Amino acid sequence: MSVPRLIGSEIFRRSGYGAWHPLRVPRVSTVLDLSRALGWLPSDRYIVAPRAKPAALTLWHSPDYIAALERAEAAQAVSEAERGRYGLGTPSNPVFPEMYRRPATGAGGSLLAGELLAKGGVIYHPAGGTHHGMPARAGGFCYLNDPVLAILSLRRAGVGRIAYVDIDAHHPDGVEVAFADDPQTLMISVHEERRWPFTGGLQDRGGGNVFNLPVPRDFNDTEMAAVLDRLILPRVAAFRPEAVVLQCGADAVEEDPLSRLSLSNNAHWAVVAALAPLSPRYLVLGGGGYNPWSVGRLWTGVWATLNGLDIPDRLPEAGAAVLRGLSWTGSRRGKAPPAHWFDTLRDAPRPGPLRDELRDRLAALEKREPP
Ligand SMILES: [Zn+2]
Repeated sequence: MSVPRLIGSEIFRRSGYGAWHPLRVPRVSTVLDLSRALGWLPSDRYIVAPRAKPAALTLWHSPDYIAALERAEAAQAVSEAERGRYGLGTPSNPVFPEMYRRPATGAGGSLLAGELLAKGGVIYHPAGGTHHGMPARAGGFCYLNDPVLAILSLRRAGVGRIAYVDIDAHHPDGVEVAFADDPQTLMISVHEERRWPFTGGLQDRGGGNVFNLPVPRDFNDTEMAAVLDRLILPRVAAFRPEAVVLQCGADAVEEDPLSRLSLSNNAHWAVVAALAPLSPRYLVLGGGGYNPWSVGRLWTGVWATLNGLDIPDRLPEAGAAVLRGLSWTGSRRGKAPPAHWFDTLRDAPRPGPLRDELRDRLAALEKREPP
């Protein structure tokens, strides 16, 4: 199998959603800077994401919505009617200078990943993972749905059975809309219960291949290990996928401001590593993650995990300098970050009890027969 490759773009460094939006923080640029500082990203392993053309986006999105998104970027404004119809120009999905080009670059990376994986391999696209986008509507900070486009791109490249696993704190409502009834797609999502978008119930099964596990507050590393062993790995292995797409959002960690889950980044890396041997094609996407240090450390560790690199206990100075250069304006937690956010990648593990409610939900999903 070929060596893993990373897809990125400088547009994610230069653009943000505005001064008060959770996505004002740098994320992908930290992964690039930190990986390069550690010597983990030689230039021949890096692929610049192309900006998807509007016509390419209509593989799943409606042409009128794509046109409205382009118009909003050009005018830097939306009409009341368009705001209502398309969800553009809202607090979650604001008008900003790159509001078409930035998501179109994320989507372009995912479309390209599907093509590059035709013959097999491993691709990491941390700017991907915008799992809330709908065919004709923005939502949840997502303007387009690049995971859906990645799966459709893989299909177009001749890949049949695809397992989609999502460990973001939020349920991937857009991806479920696209593939819930598709017998060729397995969908597994682990997400915080009673949190926006309030979809992803335990009982949902779509056409039979949908497995949703809502988890309670304070979800810990021990519980994630149980979810991996009892839900994710057995279901993915039994599906015999030709490709695995992992949405590895970084918002289920303890320090994230948008969820109340309590994982350490070790939990995410364990999922990344365990899924790797289960198919000849592996695409790892980013997703949520709103604490700039948590995201940068977690996602850089994903790249190390995909490459089998040792994560040092203490970062060398060049790496620590990247993390010291970050800021998190408007956040209480950003005022006095603890030292380990600068000089380590690995969090201290956050074990805990495997609670009965989670045990019961896992048992309910384990009992389920294939369709
Ligand atoms: Zn999320």
